[in-house]
Amino acid sequence: MTRLSGATKLAGVVGRPVRHSLSPPIHNAWLDAAGIDGAYLALSPTEDGFPHLIEGLRGGSVAGLNVTLPFKEAALAAADRASERAQLAGAANLLLFSEDGAVLADNTDGIGLLGAFQAQAPGFDPAAGPVVILGAGGAARGAAAAFLLAGAPKIRLVNRTRARAEVIAFALGDRVQAFGWAELPSLLDDAAALINATSLGLEGHDPLDIELTGLPRTAPVMDMVYRPLLTRLLEDAAQAGHPTVDGLEMLILQAGPSFEAFFGAAPPASVDVRALALAALEETP
Ligand code: NAP
Repeated sequence: MTRLSGATKLAGVVGRPVRHSLSPPIHNAWLDAAGIDGAYLALSPTEDGFPHLIEGLRGGSVAGLNVTLPFKEAALAAADRASERAQLAGAANLLLFSEDGAVLADNTDGIGLLGAFQAQAPGFDPAAGPVVILGAGGAARGAAAAFLLAGAPKIRLVNRTRARAEVIAFALGDRVQAFGWAELPSLLDDAAALINATSLGLEGHDPLDIELTGLPRTAPVMDMVYRPLLTRLLEDAAQAGHPTVDGLEMLILQAGPSFEAFFGAAPPASVDVRALALAALEETP
């Protein structure tokens, strides 16, 4: 276990609630394994307290913060500069504090999302055809931005409240189209992938119960929900013969680039992050 010293480099995650975040166990295990004098903490300010926290960290006393709900949009707004992928996503999951006082925003969720496809549906090409994304919250916009940057020819955002999908389509340009829930069956026939970015399927919510029959068998099905890990959607998809991609892999793979940005070293490969994350999930029901 790394001991704190006068030179300990600090980073953390900010969210509310944040106590169930998997980021502290993941980053601290990497720090231990790499022998880095660093620590990764969880912070949970009120909504009003968030901008004060960010202002107070200017100047580099903390290397950076990962950002989770409900602060991802506010994090982008609080930054002085933002990467293209954060601007497209309309949200930041990573803030870096430089010594000159600047706050830089980035978003590594797309790296996690596309990396999860690469890991669990190898051979899938994001540019191969239309991608259908269910939802129109922050996760759906982030996924649409990531697939746009990866060259998807068309992105179909399908949401219960169609107007929310239209707002995102307007912001991201004409490769992104908005649809209502009832239109879903007609959108699957030529789809290259299907992604659930709604909260349906999450523990305590209704399951996502949709008909996959029109979707080509080769199209991967991805669920961003990872509590539970094996959702009804992923079970149905696997049974129908689709490659499946889970939300935990996305979560794990967005963490690596943040670690490197905070601590200046790649995460050590010796840590079995998936096993660690699964154990942490079981400990925090
Ligand atoms: P959000 O902003 O609250 O959006 C929720 C979405 O779910 C909206 O599109 C909403 O539709 C839809 N929805 C909720 N209840 C519904 C219902 N009964 N029927 C149909 N649609 C319904 O949430 P978010 O931040 O985008 O997150 C969405 C999911 O992604 C969450 O489960 C989150 O845990 C997951 N996520 C995972 C990762 C990862 O790394 N794996 C990263 C980010 C997010 P309306 O617009 O009509 O309300």
